[in-house]
Amino acid sequence: MKAVYEGIADEMIRLVEREQLKDQSLWRLVTKQFEGTPDDGDHGWRGEYWGKLMRGACMTWQYTKDEELYAILTEAVKGLLAAQEEDGRISTYSREEEFQGWDIWCRKYVLLGLLHFYEICQEPWLKTQVREAAGRHLDRIIDKIGEGNGKKRITLASDAWRGINSSSILEPVVWLYMLEPKERYLEFADYIVKNGGAEGFDIFQAAYENRLCPYEYPVVKAYELMSCFEGLLLYAQVKGDEHWRQAVIRFADRLLESEATVAGGSGCHHELFNHSALMQTGTKYDGLMLETCVTVTWMKLMWKVYLTTGDMRYLEEVERSAFNALYGAVNTQNSACGPEATFDEPHYRSVYHRALAENGGRGQIFDSYSPLRRGIRGRAVGGFKSMEEETAYCGCCIAIGAAGVALVSQAAAGDSAGEAGPVPQRAVGDLVGEAGPASWRTAGDPAGGIALNIYLPGRLRTRAGETAVELSVDTAYPMEGEVSVLVKTDREVSFPITLRIPSFAESCQVFVNGVEQEKVRAGAFLRLCRRWKTGDRIRLSLSYGPRLVYGMENPEDHGSSRHVAVLYGPLALARDRRLGEVGGSVRVGDGKVSAHRLEDVEIPCQCGFSVGLGGEEFAMVDYASAGKTWGQDSAMEVWMPVKGR
Ligand SMILES: [Zn+2]
Repeated sequence: MKAVYEGIADEMIRLVEREQLKDQSLWRLVTKQFEGTPDDGDHGWRGEYWGKLMRGACMTWQYTKDEELYAILTEAVKGLLAAQEEDGRISTYSREEEFQGWDIWCRKYVLLGLLHFYEICQEPWLKTQVREAAGRHLDRIIDKIGEGNGKKRITLASDAWRGINSSSILEPVVWLYMLEPKERYLEFADYIVKNGGAEGFDIFQAAYENRLCPYEYPVVKAYELMSCFEGLLLYAQVKGDEHWRQAVIRFADRLLESEATVAGGSGCHHELFNHSALMQTGTKYDGLMLETCVTVTWMKLMWKVYLTTGDMRYLEEVERSAFNALYGAVNTQNSACGPEATFDEPHYRSVYHRALAENGGRGQIFDSYSPLRRGIRGRAVGGFKSMEEETAYCGCCIAIGAAGVALVSQAAAGDSAGEAGPVPQRAVGDLVGEAGPASWRTAGDPAGGIALNIYLPGRLRTRAGETAVELSVDTAYPMEGEVSVLVKTDREVSFPITLRIPSFAESCQVFVNGVEQEKVRAGAFLRLCRRWKTGDRIRLSLSYGPRLVYGMENPEDHGSSRHVAVLYGPLALARDRRLGEVGGSVRVGDGKVSAHRLEDVEIPCQCGFSVGLGGEEFAMVDYASAGKTWGQDSAMEVWMPVKGR
């Protein structure tokens, strides 16, 4: 499918492409790390940036098909391949220091970056070279990591987080096996799973047994944990293993139940799972939360679980995270970390500001943490590492954001030939016949039809069998619930169009050429199966207004439940100091909330509302647009304290 969107999703992708992914000096910087051993000194993760950026860039290219970007990525790949050693090794650690700290994690990202580029690579000779390089790179790891023969156990190949960072290499190991079905790759994947993911605790089996929530595991680093489960899902799909597939689904369900927040993403204590559903209104912690790496990985995991189950709950979490936490982290106003920002090492502050000065005062394109209670953006640069004699830096969240932004274009709509990474044939078989648009992933099945998952304005072009089909989608969703879809085809052709009817819709109607459709239900997919011809029009009318949600009761924190947030469709609304008071208590009154769309809002935003609550009126904007100066002048909050509750 070729999608050309308008509106925020397209703007975000193109902004990131222009400002970050086409920045050749950034590519030179992250590629150059492999020429030396810069991670020896602090057992760091300077080797992760290349692969993370490459993944996001390839996913972005799948949407934009931008030739200049492709040329830049080709050079970056050639640069990396030039750094591969005789025995296949690609690492930012020396042989003396290797397989400690974040070495395997970095090598995982090398492998992922290569595989993502392999997927888009146009030149057969380079494609072959990339696959072979990926194979030799993994071969070297398998020679050194595993059981017996003086090998190192994978969960002992890092002293951080019980080795879950290392175990997360599972995903690209399975992916490479799908491209090159060598028994040793699958055996290595078997080994990683059998080893349990974490040193001294089997995270995979714990998820299957389903007695604990992830925040109750002995290791709660959110991003790395979810990365392991992304790998486990691909492993289960390739093996046709229902046990492990269930483990991933149960893990995702536990996350939705215990870790979801009103703005999407997760982890309300630094970068950790901490029962975020409860702790998001906690009054005892005022530190960093909702790491962007967690948001992106949360979205990716939810998207994959959606694809294997067809269950809308996971898809809606992708949408919610995109419109709130993720877009909120995109630095749309060229802001930079100010004096309130904290840095892991004191001298990093000067590294940051020196790089900032050289960059004309423009900060990094992605922020790293997002506030929910009164706070500011730009409080820290997650995973900051200084490079090149303290003249340059990068960070984990800076490098991961592009993948999240590009994922939205892949998740929003799909057809039978989706482009969202590896889809093993055996797993595809599992999807056939299941309700919901997961079946659009049935590769090569022209009857898969078109699914509209997240309503973005724009044009979708695909084929139904031999017939070219174009859908023009006109909508201001999520600000408004009216969606119009105009069909254009060469000739009459049968295929299904599947519409997601969001769970938050209070009522909804669907008309095809003016005829009202039956069985339209919020929280369910509507499959419109008919012969389509040019001029056919689908009209979807969703009605929804503001919803008030309360903080959860926490016996250890009585202030926790005395908070309310206002949601509007998939959007969380926020107060922003540029528009009025922030931090002051609100009255809830009878609990009724109203929201009138403001025609003119004084700050750049997607939408602003005059919210009526407890007899008072105040301005709120969509969460993603709040706090964008990264300073106290745009202090913001989603969770508002409640007067006398
Ligand atoms: Zn991060």
